[in-house]
Amino acid sequence: MIRIDLSREEIPSYWYNIVSDLPDLPPPIHPATKKPLGPRDFYPIFTKECVDQEFSKERYIKIPDELRELYIRIGRPTPLYRAKRLEKYLKTPAKIYYKREDVTPTGSHKLNTAIVQAFCAAREGLEYLTTETGAGQWGSALSYATAMMGIKAIVFMVRISYLQKPYRKLVMKLYGADIFPSPSDKTEIGKKYLEKDPNHPGSLGIAISEAIDMAKNSDKARYSLGSVLNHVLLHQTIIGQEVKKQFELIGEKPDILIGCFGGGSNFSGFTFPFIEEILKGKEKYDVIAVEPTAAPSMTNGEYRYDFGDSAGITPLIKMFTLGHDFIPPPIHAGGLRYHGAAPTVSLLKSKGIVRSVTYAQEETFEAGRIFAMTEGIIPAPETTYAVKAAMDEALKARENREEKVIAFNFSGHGLLDLKGYEDVLKIS
Ligand SMILES: *Cc1c(COP(=O)(O)O)cnc(C)c1O
Repeated sequence: MIRIDLSREEIPSYWYNIVSDLPDLPPPIHPATKKPLGPRDFYPIFTKECVDQEFSKERYIKIPDELRELYIRIGRPTPLYRAKRLEKYLKTPAKIYYKREDVTPTGSHKLNTAIVQAFCAAREGLEYLTTETGAGQWGSALSYATAMMGIKAIVFMVRISYLQKPYRKLVMKLYGADIFPSPSDKTEIGKKYLEKDPNHPGSLGIAISEAIDMAKNSDKARYSLGSVLNHVLLHQTIIGQEVKKQFELIGEKPDILIGCFGGGSNFSGFTFPFIEEILKGKEKYDVIAVEPTAAPSMTNGEYRYDFGDSAGITPLIKMFTLGHDFIPPPIHAGGLRYHGAAPTVSLLKSKGIVRSVTYAQEETFEAGRIFAMTEGIIPAPETTYAVKAAMDEALKARENREEKVIAFNFSGHGLLDLKGYEDVLKIS
């Protein structure tokens, strides 16, 4: 079977909240007082419902019916594919499966949370959601979601991406969003960076500072984040729940679970429903987060409290971090350039429940090319990291003559990121 589908009725009816199974998760704290923060501290920044989810200790949180309908609209449930042609190419006894999160209207998993956040904002009577975007995937997703809800997205796009990715910008504009290259002259924080360097390339951390600053100064706007936080990862858990059902359908179980890792949202969405079984002592899986050597927060970072943004206006969160002033080299996988890692995944890494590996973009784009030739889909630059790790595990299985079952999350397609392939593989 090369493709495993679920029916619409099988779209999950709840999100899995891993926080309920991690009682020792360190809370966010105030930078000056170092006191733990609660929901009230976050209401001025995020929508109320998302803040409540952020602090919820409930294990399963019900998905409203309207949202299940929106999940259908964006193409859920998404198929699970078996990479038979890639297996043959690698001459491996391993079976490789991948979850198709590229089949949504904007081409990645990010809509899974964007539609929830826009839904909550509209329900709370807000008119704007501000946000940042690196490569443009998150900005596209939030622009789509706000359009569907009849509200507006204001997007601070990292300047270097704004210049390098004109098509992502156009996607957002077609969905009616306002877009500013960051650092911008729209916020005091942005102006400060521009004063120092009028051609500042920007970073995700700076764009986050600007988007939060703008939301804080308006009662019709809230800020929206596409990764890292508990509630964002929560929304993504529908991915892994679907995958579990899909494996049950074919009577198979994965041994190895792989996701590329920026802030942690696609990785968590794919793996948390399986990690729930690990935490309960029911199953064992080898769970691998794949990072760029250029921004290896989980692999080389320190596990400590740090700011989530560059300017230091967010609370402190405990995570694996390269330091909030770390400006990563401009690799093509813009979505993997964040300086930190989700607090929940950081805790799981510190406990040895997940591990991380790193690759350089030269080898991941080559893996992306092989994937396109064998499986017929061009992966997003971010996704090529997961592809590369899955291929390496399949080659290890060949060496050891093991029939491993490898599953990875195909987080998005690369049809708007072809420049990366052109530059790195020198094809034109
Ligand atoms: C944004 C993005 C990522 C990285 O973000 P995570 O929060 O770590 O998932 C990975 N793949 C694609 C296609 C993306 O758009």
